[in-house]
Amino acid sequence: MKLKTLEISGFKSFADKTIIDFMPGMTGIVGPNGSGKSNIIEAIRWVMGEQSAKNLRGSKMSDVIFGGTKNRKALNRAEVSITFDNSDHYVKSDFSEIRITRRLYRSGESLYQINGADCRLRDIHELFMDTGLGREGFSIISQGQVESIFSSKPEERRGIIEEVAGVYKYKQNKDKAEKELLQTSDNLSRVSDILHEVT
Ligand code: ATP
Repeated sequence: MKLKTLEISGFKSFADKTIIDFMPGMTGIVGPNGSGKSNIIEAIRWVMGEQSAKNLRGSKMSDVIFGGTKNRKALNRAEVSITFDNSDHYVKSDFSEIRITRRLYRSGESLYQINGADCRLRDIHELFMDTGLGREGFSIISQGQVESIFSSKPEERRGIIEEVAGVYKYKQNKDKAEKELLQTSDNLSRVSDILHEVT
């Protein structure tokens, strides 16, 4: 799976639609202080479902919407789309290209899409589970995060390693199966009680 394109519009300092094509190999983003380099990384974080405004250096989520400058008025909508080349089907999907879109209006209304179809944030998390790009994706290491990984609790560090190793998904499936077993066992004992009553 490779990052192919990032489209940013109305997000932070990117008032106009900006398309970044990622070429094969390594990409470096350079620019003067305050020119928006970190905003590009935050756009990736945001479109992949970041829910914490604080992690995006804001106090509320609508802070990601272009807030205006002295020459330009604020916008009402932020939209980011990210496209992955999935021709190796690293992400378990039939699509050889996966495009995720997130849109937010100042009114609070928001939208997520996978390849143009509306979806829930959960669908995006499930699609990218164990790839490191989903919830709390460790594949984006921001300034200061290295220290926080080293100083995190052993259980938190274990969680990161489990996601890297690809076992997180199986743990989730196991927890779900155990809950279902418990529910089934409850149902069975209820049926057994009823049978006792009627026989
Ligand atoms: P540095 O090299 O100092 O880390 P940078 O290139 O990473 O800087 P960013 O931190 O990405 O720069 O961008 C900061 C700029 O983004 C600031 O000028 C800030 O005013 C602008 N900015 C942030 N949020 C918004 C917003 N909602 N609307 C308009 N501009 C914004």
